Amino acid sequence: MPVKFPQFRSRRDAFPESLWTRCPSCEEQLFNKQLEKAMNVCPSCGHHFRLSAPLRLGQLLDEGSFEEHDSGLVSVDPLGFVDQKAYPDRVAAAQLATGLNDAAVWGLGRVDATRIAIVVMDFGFMGGSMGAVVGEKVARAAEAALAERLPLVVVSASGGARMQEGTLALMQLAKTMAALERLRDAGVPFVSVMSDPTTGGVFASYAAMGDVNLAEPNALIGFAGARVGAGTIGQELPPGFQRSEFLYSHGFVDRVVARADLRRELSLLLRYLVPRPLDALARPLEASVG
Ligand SMILES: [Zn+2]
Repeated sequence: MPVKFPQFRSRRDAFPESLWTRCPSCEEQLFNKQLEKAMNVCPSCGHHFRLSAPLRLGQLLDEGSFEEHDSGLVSVDPLGFVDQKAYPDRVAAAQLATGLNDAAVWGLGRVDATRIAIVVMDFGFMGGSMGAVVGEKVARAAEAALAERLPLVVVSASGGARMQEGTLALMQLAKTMAALERLRDAGVPFVSVMSDPTTGGVFASYAAMGDVNLAEPNALIGFAGARVGAGTIGQELPPGFQRSEFLYSHGFVDRVVARADLRRELSLLLRYLVPRPLDALARPLEASVG
C-alpha cells in the first residue's frame, strides 16, 4: 500500500518527538540525550534552550545541597480573572505541566561550597510571569540572604508581570526592589543572571539590579517589545537590539556567559563578592576600606 502524501511529511515528522528536538536556530535534529549532556545548548550552533527550574538548579548548585523554601506558596485569584480561561484553571494547568506550584523556586544551596540564597524562574510556568507568589519568593530570598548574610543569586526567565493578577502583580516590582535595597544597604551581594527571555516587569525590577548582572548568550532582554519600542520612537531598531550582546556592548549587562561556564563564573564571583562583615557596618565605608 502506498504511503499517503509523503511529500508533505516535514523532516521533523520523521522523528519521534520524545527522542529528538529540532534546534530553532540552525534546524539541526538533536538527540535529546545528547542535548541534555550539553546542558541544553545546541552542539552545532550554541543556541541556548530554555531550562526548567529543576534543571537550572541541578546545573548550578553542588549536588544535594539545595533546600527549597516556601514551596507551598500558591496563587490566589483576587480579581476573579477570566480571559479565554479562568485564571485558576491556567494555574492548575501550569502546575500539572511543570510539577511546580508557581513560576519561581527559591531556597538555600551551595555553589562550589559557597552557601547562597537562590531564586530560579521557570518560563514553562505561564511564561515565567511574576505574580504575588514570584514577588514574595524573591522578597523572602532577599530577606533570608540578609538575615544569614549570604549572597543572593536570581536566575530570571520571564515575560514580565502576570496580567491575571493586575495591580497586585505590578506591586511586586516595588516589593522586590525594597527587599533588594535593604540587602544593598547591608553590604550583602546580589548577582542577577538573565536567561532567555528576561523582559517586562522582571527586567524593570530585580533582574537588572544585580551588583553584577550576567546574561546567557543571545537572550532576549528588555522592557517593552521591539515593535512597541520602534513605534514609540518612530525609528527602526538596530540589529540585535534587546539581545545580551547588544546590552553588554551598551553597558546594561556586565558579562555574557555561556551556560557551560556559568557555574564556574558564579563560583569565582561569589569568592570576590563576600558579604560585608557585620562589625564593619557600624563604621562608615571609608573606614572599613582603609
Ligand atoms: Zn543549533
